[in-house]
Amino acid sequence: MSQNNTQYTATAYIALGSNLDNPHKQINSACEEIDALPGMSLIQHSSLYQSAPIAQQVQPDYINAVAKIDTALMPAELLNALLIIERKHGRKRTFRNAPRTLDLDILLYNTLQLNSENLTIPHPRMTQRAFVLYPLMEIAPDCCIPGHGKINQLIAACSNQIITRLDFS
Ligand code: AMP
Repeated sequence: MSQNNTQYTATAYIALGSNLDNPHKQINSACEEIDALPGMSLIQHSSLYQSAPIAQQVQPDYINAVAKIDTALMPAELLNALLIIERKHGRKRTFRNAPRTLDLDILLYNTLQLNSENLTIPHPRMTQRAFVLYPLMEIAPDCCIPGHGKINQLIAACSNQIITRLDFS
């Protein structure tokens, strides 16, 4: 974890996902790259979780995790920094729900509710996805998702989605 004198302003939760080119490695190195960003410190990450793709096309299972960060970046700056890391990992946007080397989403940023052209916080689909809620619950069991409610209540609605917890290695 980074040690510097930055004055942190916000706590945010980032979802990480990958199903191409060694997903475990993609997520491990993305965590290191997030932690190394100026004005950023990775506080904690969840285990890795494996689940089948929601897309209809045949593609590999996904590996997902959630990281808690402290950041001095404003939400739009944070998004830009994450998009740069995605690009570095060879992320290509071909079609909706296409397989991907790395997907980074801002789930929560303090208790902010934001709906701008490029950025929606809390992430718009996070409450419907077990692969987001289970890792988030692991590291933030008391978490309340602004506009939606407590995570333990939201997770109950996703209990039919099959997901496997793995070691983070
Ligand atoms: P995706 O295909 O899911 O990686 O979509 C990435 C795009 O979604 C970004 O370029 C953002 O403009 C937009 N977006 C909106 N809200 C969020 C969010 N909370 N986190 C990440 N990307 C977001």
